[in-house]
Amino acid sequence: MSIDALERLIQALKTLPGVGPKSAQRLCFHLLQNERHKAKELGESLLDALNNVRHCQKCNNFTSENLCVLCRASGRDESKLCVVETPVDLNRVEQSLAFDGFYYVLMGRLSPLDGLSVRDLNAEHFMERALDGKVKEIILAMNFTNEGELTAHYLQSLCKEKGLSVTRIARGVPVGGELEFVDSGTLAQAIRDRRFY
Ligand code: ZN
Repeated sequence: MSIDALERLIQALKTLPGVGPKSAQRLCFHLLQNERHKAKELGESLLDALNNVRHCQKCNNFTSENLCVLCRASGRDESKLCVVETPVDLNRVEQSLAFDGFYYVLMGRLSPLDGLSVRDLNAEHFMERALDGKVKEIILAMNFTNEGELTAHYLQSLCKEKGLSVTRIARGVPVGGELEFVDSGTLAQAIRDRRFY
């Protein structure tokens, strides 16, 4: 039996973070009843993004080119590589204005409880970037959650094996803190106060 179009849309909306069954129904009815032209735009832009957005060859962030805008930028410090979990975290660090090096976006983290293991991180791609010969310091800006700490510890051991210098942003970020929700001033201080890890 095929699932009808309405139910299919509700199911799809339910997969979005923070959207439960009730919100999914509300969104679905809202789009179909009041915002049909916006719903069309939403559908088309989603398809367009799926077809054209890929991962930057250098930093793994989303981009529609081979290299993202940041990796193509001149005048940044090639000796520093800041590793973050998500594109949102990259934007937070960038907004803090405390960092002028380059980034690597993991697009995830180790999370044994969710079944996310070392294999899901694609650490080889990260190590390739880290070992480009120009990077002198790896700055681990993982969140201060259990998963973030676990990921930082894992990357630190990989980098140490290769003789790379590793620092971790300081604990101005509260325990359990996610960068996304920390104010720019606190995050800037945490980057300045980073320490060898
Ligand atoms: Zn990039």
